[in-house]
Amino acid sequence: MQRTDAPIGAQQWVPPHPRSIDELKPAAADCHGCELYENATQTVFGRGAPHAKIVFVGEQPGDVEDRHGLPFVGPAGRLLRDAVDDAGIDPAELYITNAVKHFRFELRGGRRIHQNPGPAHITACRPWLVSEFSLLKPKLVVILGATAGKALLGPSFRVTRSRGQLMPWPASAQHPEDFPVAEIQAIATIHPSAVLRADDRETAYRGLVDDLRVAAAAVA
Ligand code: SF4
Repeated sequence: MQRTDAPIGAQQWVPPHPRSIDELKPAAADCHGCELYENATQTVFGRGAPHAKIVFVGEQPGDVEDRHGLPFVGPAGRLLRDAVDDAGIDPAELYITNAVKHFRFELRGGRRIHQNPGPAHITACRPWLVSEFSLLKPKLVVILGATAGKALLGPSFRVTRSRGQLMPWPASAQHPEDFPVAEIQAIATIHPSAVLRADDRETAYRGLVDDLRVAAAAVA
């Protein structure tokens, strides 16, 4: 049955004055800020360097990530790691997370089929993302795909229009006050899973690497 009540949001599960990402992670494991926790295996929180220069933000964990409890460990994650290497970004300077921390899916014939998170899930999960940024204080955010773009820049975001361009963030967001963090730069690109789905995978991969080279130069 389709739910009609709005999610209560994650805020009440976020520790008031977290000192590290390691403090956020166990708190997020208990989050019931929206209904996505009910069917998913576990919360999949971000991971990476505690003072990362670059934060990558994707959409939500996929099937493999949901089972392992780690972001970007499936096929899209492997492709992203290759693209990061090819772009000359030091993986030790990265932190990677998702706009929504639980896997949203539909069961079809025993298979879990990915479903995009809705605007209400993005809003409900935003307090975790805000807390991650507040602790990490990165120089740059790399926005991977449309859902992350809408979460960080607002609903009018289009990845085809904005990709590969540096922009100030959160100033470029529709409601910058949603992210009370220091001004940094942002760049959008396609989600690595879009490369895996592309008819011309080689061209799509080259485009992803080109965008990431702009990110690498921005923090060099
Ligand atoms: S998706 Fe986000 S807000 Fe919803 S239950 Fe999971 S952690 Fe909480």
